[in-house]
Amino acid sequence: MPLSNMQSNAAGWSEVSPGPPLWLLAELTYRCPLHCAFCSNPVDYARNTVELDTAQWCDVFSQARALGAVQLGLSGGEPLLRKDLEALVRHAHGLGFYTNLITSGVGLTDARLAGLREAGLDHIQLSFQDSTRELNDFLSSTRTFDLKQRVARMIKAHGYPMVMNCVLHRHNLAHVGTIIEMALQMDAEYLELANTQYYGWAWENRLALMPTQEQLRDAEAVVKQYRARVGRQCQILFVVPDYFEPRPKKCMNGWGTTFLGVAPDGTALPCHAARMLPGLVLPNVTTQSLRAIWTESDAFRRFRGTHWMQEPCRSCDQREEDYGGCRCQAFLLTGDPAATDPVCDRSGEHEKVNEIVLQGRLAAVQARDRAYPMVFRSDGNSLRLSSGQK
Ligand code: SF4
Ligand code: SF4
Repeated sequence: MPLSNMQSNAAGWSEVSPGPPLWLLAELTYRCPLHCAFCSNPVDYARNTVELDTAQWCDVFSQARALGAVQLGLSGGEPLLRKDLEALVRHAHGLGFYTNLITSGVGLTDARLAGLREAGLDHIQLSFQDSTRELNDFLSSTRTFDLKQRVARMIKAHGYPMVMNCVLHRHNLAHVGTIIEMALQMDAEYLELANTQYYGWAWENRLALMPTQEQLRDAEAVVKQYRARVGRQCQILFVVPDYFEPRPKKCMNGWGTTFLGVAPDGTALPCHAARMLPGLVLPNVTTQSLRAIWTESDAFRRFRGTHWMQEPCRSCDQREEDYGGCRCQAFLLTGDPAATDPVCDRSGEHEKVNEIVLQGRLAAVQARDRAYPMVFRSDGNSLRLSSGQK
């Protein structure tokens, strides 16, 4: 770590000037006891079984901190499946990271919570699939609803601030009010109502998950009422999904500006879905330093800024605002990762988004869910999907 970028404070901790990348997401493992139908892990995750060891992850954290990263997300898969999680948290805490565990709750016992607390973990994000046992357990293909309730109580008993997270789609949007009530009962400080992003398993299930405009509008109205009522007791985040807005979001806050993800095998990712993009040779932390990856690698430079854009983005007055939207969405919908994100109504391929929304609407209003059976994340499905036999 260059001395000019690092000083010791009175407590002996390292202090580094914050600077890009600000946010490191460590996907510690793709293993997970749940089988969510909207999981954003790669559909061929079962082929990716290599995982960095404890020393390698610690080295990644040290390098990221030296670059200026301040937030560390510990995710997966299910990060609690890593027996060295406490050691990893301890190392990250010692470097001065703000650490956030992103978990399904499976495996989070009283003893592990105490160990994580002692190691310096700052924050826990606990996911639910719904406010009803039936749908929670159906969508994750596990009986985990009661366990998650117990885990939420344990998290609060250990004095943690808690983010409750629930992925939304047409099967649970009508439950938004009861999901918020559940978060309030659990004393969650934050509730993230994350409308499904259509990557990974969610892309496979897009017609089974796509909501209608009316469902979204009604859910947003419920969220607004609760926000007015509960104020700062629980901050409720609700983001309208891309497919229902005329303009795309600034994906990852701009490619290669803020976010650096590291997959279980050490692959460095400018966006957690970037593995799907053809022609993008992703660097690996086992063969290159993070500094070289961030500053010199083609993968991190390819879509940074605006130099790579095609029309209509190239001459658009919004190009510095949204950077042309999401590269993975552009690829999935057009086959070209450098295309304008078709979510944008200025894209020549915007009709493709309208078509998917329309198909989803037809499935919803005609109760044609049987026509689009849900594909659950599992090793077997992974191999079937990736060998093109779907
Ligand atoms: S979305 Fe579900 S299956 Fe995927 S990692 Fe999270 S808990 Fe596991
Ligand atoms: S044309 Fe490109 S830059 Fe302009 S609003 Fe659409 S996505 Fe954004």
